[in-house]
Amino acid sequence: MGLLSNGTPLHWNDAKKHADHVRAHGIQQFLTIFHNLKNQKDQLLWGDEIEYMVVAFDDENKNAKLSLRVFEVLDALYKEQREAETHLGTNDEILQTAWHPEYGRFMLEATPGAPYGSTLRDLLNVEPNMRLRRVLAQKYLKPNEIPLTITSYPRLGASGQFLEPHHEPNGDAARSMFVPDEIINPHARFPTLTANIRRRRGAKVAINVPIFHDVNTPRPFIDPTIPWDRNLFPEDSEARAGAALPDHIYLDAMAFGMGCCCLQITFQACNIEEARRLYDQLATLGPIMVGVVEGWRMNVKGGCCGCWMEKLCLALTAAAPIYRGYLADVDCRWNVIAGSVDDRTEEERGLKPLKNNRYVISKSRYDSIDSYLSTDATFRPEYNDIPLVFDNDIRQTLVDNGVDNQLARHVAHLFIRDPLVIFEESLDQDDMISSDHFENIQSTNWQTMRFKPPPPGSSIGWRVEFRSMEVQMTDFENAAFATFIVLLTRVILSFGLNFYVPISKVDENMKKAHKRGAAINEKFYFRKNVFPSQTAAEGATSDTSNGAAKSGKVEDEYDLFTINEIINGNGTTFRGLIPLIESYLNSLNVDIETRCDLSKYLELVRKRADGTLVTGATWMRNFVQNHPYYRQDSVVSQEINYDLVREIARIGRGEVIVPELLGNFNVAKK
Ligand code: ADP
Ligand code: MG
Ligand code: MG
Ligand code: MG
Ligand code: MG
Ligand code: MG
Repeated sequence: MGLLSNGTPLHWNDAKKHADHVRAHGIQQFLTIFHNLKNQKDQLLWGDEIEYMVVAFDDENKNAKLSLRVFEVLDALYKEQREAETHLGTNDEILQTAWHPEYGRFMLEATPGAPYGSTLRDLLNVEPNMRLRRVLAQKYLKPNEIPLTITSYPRLGASGQFLEPHHEPNGDAARSMFVPDEIINPHARFPTLTANIRRRRGAKVAINVPIFHDVNTPRPFIDPTIPWDRNLFPEDSEARAGAALPDHIYLDAMAFGMGCCCLQITFQACNIEEARRLYDQLATLGPIMVGVVEGWRMNVKGGCCGCWMEKLCLALTAAAPIYRGYLADVDCRWNVIAGSVDDRTEEERGLKPLKNNRYVISKSRYDSIDSYLSTDATFRPEYNDIPLVFDNDIRQTLVDNGVDNQLARHVAHLFIRDPLVIFEESLDQDDMISSDHFENIQSTNWQTMRFKPPPPGSSIGWRVEFRSMEVQMTDFENAAFATFIVLLTRVILSFGLNFYVPISKVDENMKKAHKRGAAINEKFYFRKNVFPSQTAAEGATSDTSNGAAKSGKVEDEYDLFTINEIINGNGTTFRGLIPLIESYLNSLNVDIETRCDLSKYLELVRKRADGTLVTGATWMRNFVQNHPYYRQDSVVSQEINYDLVREIARIGRGEVIVPELLGNFNVAKK
């Protein structure tokens, strides 16, 4: 979760006085890194991050609750790790894993102990390592507790008891009507972040997820579980004053979004140019991987209606169809998490004329990227055609100090945001050695892609992070999606592929692609010819090479494709990403075992894209709708949730076979 400095966190009223200080020094720190490390050469490395929710089962009362014991578990894991490090020469399993806290006090995050290298054989370690992490987490849990890879917890914030131990929702940080502050990681950074987002915005965050209208769901649906008349905090009036919309599931706290789990992949590139190129190319793929978000908007003008990135990428990994005990009419977490940290004021959201703020900003801090970063030969300035909001003084400072305009715009765009958590003791930093102020802004711009400069004083290089995927119920699926993205980066770099399409054009296109089932039914803009030139690789079928296209019209470079066509090809003009990966594997000497293992993963992605296999979201929806206690009223009751979560636990441990989700593939038991 980024930096975790200690000290006295400042209330927003004090923090805001230091915003310019943090920004100015953050830019100096970025310049130090840039000038010291812009020529650094590294090897290709990568690693995944998986987030878990720890669930405690109460079999007697048929309830499954989120366990708030995670810090005890982390302490035990860290202790075992320290002990393992002291027996030199041993190859303890714990050292093959790394553990991190997350926003939720019920969440764990784990990565491989060291990043993977660039060989295909490394890919075969991914799933076993994920399995090992699940086993290690389990080791320090009670017999009734299980670590689950589930994107959103179905009854988080629902009426009744959903936490172990139970707490009433009356904390001063979130001031939520549904979740207590005890749910938040107790490190000062997290309650402060929560409170300062609310204070900066001038209201609680307000997320309205459209409810799935089943036959017995009232129309209009006015949520009877909202404590409409509560008067504990001034913010309690917001729900009745219009923040909670009819026919929606209203969520009022950061925990609803930052309490979601995801699957992220970070690549270390060989140099800064390659990192910038990967950033752009993967950005165009982000949307395909996340899932299908349906047509809904935040209840704020200029709010996050989602651009094509998250829409398209939600298609394959969609895994979050239930919020606060109700079936939603969306399958993915993305807009919930975007709304959950949306600290923009009414002025910034375009609801009032600008007076105290500097910019109208179209997106939350958690959203899709707005500009490409690379200046390689395939990039055309026309692709960066969204009017980008940026701090022009910062851009000028960067350009005056030797940063090219493209990168300067990127950083100046991140720096339109205020630092939200400032520790009093950390205000004065040595800009030649610290990156704290830079990271303060950088790490609270939660976008589909993150361009990560090397931390000063480390051996780590220029990296990019692919952040849009929802976590899957099984390690088999998580390994499959990680492998797919990793192989795609290899193909992009080896074949010199070009996925560029103008950001605005796709944004516009995606607005009509919000319907449920968009992955199967809708068409998305994608580049027609992804090859650098006709002769560069097998299978180039378009008659326009990029060389020709560069002088031609941008509009001629892309066309409409279904996700199935993008992933699997259309049989004629467009090869498809999986066939491209297969060509790449064919061009290498891959041993049979490796090839078979990789094929399983590609097969899963292929079948998700063509609709043969359902997404996790669809599986969960079906489970609820077929449950004997379900009353066709959208309600996911405590008992339905208990059975659902128990089944998810079994699936995660490979104890049940789910052919509609996983095809013929078995999940190894653990
Ligand atoms: P964050 O939460 O800031 O995104 P984490 O430390 O949790 O970062 O995860 C970083 C991921 O990046 C890990 O999966 C790790 O394996 C991977 N990685 C890629 N390259 C490197 C590198 N050079 N050094 C360390 N980690 C790397
Ligand atoms: Mg995380
Ligand atoms: Mg992390
Ligand atoms: Mg993180
Ligand atoms: Mg990360
Ligand atoms: Mg942006």
